[in-house]
Amino acid sequence: MQDQRRNHRPSRREVLTGMGMGILGLAGGGWLTHQANAAQQNAPLPIIPNVVQAAPRTIISSSGIRMHAIQTGFVAVKSAHRDYNGIEALRLPAIATDTRWTAWMPIMTWVIEHPTGIIVVDTGETSNIMEPDYTNCDPITHFIYQNNLRFVVSPADELAAQMQMLNLPPDEVKTVVQTHLHSDHVGNMSAFPNATFYVPQADYPASNGTLPCHYPANFAPQFAAFREAPFPGFGQGLALTGDGDVWIVPTPGHSLGHQSVLFMDDNLSFLFAGDVAFDEGQLVSGGYGGIVADVALTQATLANIREYASERPMVFLPSHDPNSTNRFEDQEPAAV
Ligand SMILES: [Zn+2]
Repeated sequence: MQDQRRNHRPSRREVLTGMGMGILGLAGGGWLTHQANAAQQNAPLPIIPNVVQAAPRTIISSSGIRMHAIQTGFVAVKSAHRDYNGIEALRLPAIATDTRWTAWMPIMTWVIEHPTGIIVVDTGETSNIMEPDYTNCDPITHFIYQNNLRFVVSPADELAAQMQMLNLPPDEVKTVVQTHLHSDHVGNMSAFPNATFYVPQADYPASNGTLPCHYPANFAPQFAAFREAPFPGFGQGLALTGDGDVWIVPTPGHSLGHQSVLFMDDNLSFLFAGDVAFDEGQLVSGGYGGIVADVALTQATLANIREYASERPMVFLPSHDPNSTNRFEDQEPAAV
């Protein structure tokens, strides 16, 4: 995926009307190419993704558990949002004034068909994000979303729609773990009416970047009560299954309560890691983005994950890493 920097910023309407349709595949690659060419004269922003959304990938773990990687559209952020090495106090102004954008990144979700019930990690983004007023739960958050983030999500990209195509009825989902409450991780929640939701207590009901006005009516999530965990690195966790192969683990930093899901298969673990890092390179290098709630917590979390991955082979799966899907499919452990 390449950055599509151009010389002109299109109106939001241009972006909205065009992008959703392109991702829906209604006009196919020809439409995308046409739009890309038409936009090349103006815009320093990544106008539209120059790749088609990846189809869901399904794997079967060595212990026989079927899992799915499902992309729910694309997000692009300011470059300083993704990578920031400057002065701590200037973190947010640096993002706000940055004129550079990242390439379009996937918004990944994960489904574990566990014998004790379907577990979903993050519900991804909703196509409602394409409506200009959707992020207006409060004026400051609205301003941040409108100026610092871009999305491309169609109705067909939503998690529930894709799960239906995979014969995984959303109303049969038993557990949803939200790594954190930023919009691109918690869309579409009302499509899972029978699930127990686990959300980070420290981030709930509202914290930086959350849109609490869109939580489902009568939303009553659970908070993970972490206990000492019998595996390296994280120190604590909450077992989601009786046989202790799926855990919620604390991974704070990006948000104060950020949590991840650790699936420990026979000889290989999978960490569904939300926004712990933007890609595996940041895990290895210890780098991080401008959007972190707490730098020290972020660094400690990355060190914890490296410790785990150095002792036990672990596939590292952050939400926005363009290579997460391939590593998932190849069951490729992190090279820490
Ligand atoms: Zn986030």
